[in-house]
Amino acid sequence: MAPTNGPGRIQLASRTVQLAWLREHSTLAAPLFARARAEVGHAWCLCRLPALRLVIRCTRAGRYHVAGWPGEGEQHDPSCPFHKLAPGLSGPDRYSTGAIREADDGVFIRLATPLTIPLDQPRTHEAPREEISQEAGSRRSVSLLGLLHWIWEQARLNVSHPQEGRLTWRTCHARLHSQLREITVNGRDLDEALYVVPPFTPAAADANAAALDAFRARLGNHGMTEQRALILGQIKEVAPTPYGVAYRLAHQRTPLYARAALQARAARSYRHAFGKPAAQHGATRIALFVVEHSPKRHLTVVDLAAMLTTGTYMPADSSYEVVMADALAACRRAFIKPLRYDTADAVLPDFLLTDVAPAAYVEVYGIHGRESYDRRKAEKREFYQRQENQLIEWDVTQPLPPLARSGQRGCPPNA
Ligand SMILES: [Zn+2]
Repeated sequence: MAPTNGPGRIQLASRTVQLAWLREHSTLAAPLFARARAEVGHAWCLCRLPALRLVIRCTRAGRYHVAGWPGEGEQHDPSCPFHKLAPGLSGPDRYSTGAIREADDGVFIRLATPLTIPLDQPRTHEAPREEISQEAGSRRSVSLLGLLHWIWEQARLNVSHPQEGRLTWRTCHARLHSQLREITVNGRDLDEALYVVPPFTPAAADANAAALDAFRARLGNHGMTEQRALILGQIKEVAPTPYGVAYRLAHQRTPLYARAALQARAARSYRHAFGKPAAQHGATRIALFVVEHSPKRHLTVVDLAAMLTTGTYMPADSSYEVVMADALAACRRAFIKPLRYDTADAVLPDFLLTDVAPAAYVEVYGIHGRESYDRRKAEKREFYQRQENQLIEWDVTQPLPPLARSGQRGCPPNA
């Protein structure tokens, strides 16, 4: 087969390889990485011509990998793993370099929630509030929601492409897992500090149980510190218990327990994820939990962030956005959901269609008659009027607008 350009093809020194192969076989490819770093200084992404530079990173453990060149993410093809939204269209722009630092030996994140508690200090059960550095106008640390959005975006789970088919938890797990090795959070390797609930099959049950045991062994007191850790999974049910609530997760039998007050706060902070309307649209909710061991060795949640997603794990900010994301996928549109991280006030499009150039914006207008919402909507419209991009708007009191590309038929599917 003749070599072709296209997403996922990388040039390392004089060799052209698939990114998926590189990620799988980074040890095997180490000499190739070392040669490219010494002779060229970087790798090439072949998603477009002329090719775009990629950074070659090497972790302290000697693991090589490639990453997007700073500031050039926007130039990659929207279907390329190194594509990034333009500045202003994505939440992470508001972090200081202390919050998320991308270096030659990996990505270092400062999470606002501590994962290691010194045992000689008094305990508090209050979830920490993130500080915002006022002078710089940028955050010095990342909240749990910010970290969840970061991981989701790195795994490109906020990108939908008709050629990829229906996303399952198995795919999510694999993609999330491949990202963790290069990330350090509060000084700990994320693949050690974070347990992504693996997909359940009867054949994998024993291996999954062993992995959870190994993860749990890292919790609790080690020397003069108590170790907490992170669990990422899909909440199936929040069930009341005599002491609070139990979170039952998809693919995992062991529940996580929390005080009622923590769940009450989570339900307020992440009201779309815990609200009723979303469930009617086949939506699901993904949560990132900070856990510790209770004296009886139950997994106890000390903080959490939750995110509403469609049934195929595309994030959405409301149940109406779930409907829109599903309709766009049914119409075989390629799109990206810009994630907010810690920027509640930023003006971001609800969705960005990437199969037209320039990309088109999709806006879902859900709430009427609330002053702050109406003001935001007016701000958004003003922002779009300054752009040359096409704008598709849906007022949810009306039927869905046409979502087809020109020449496509049968969209919206329920019209
Ligand atoms: Zn590329």
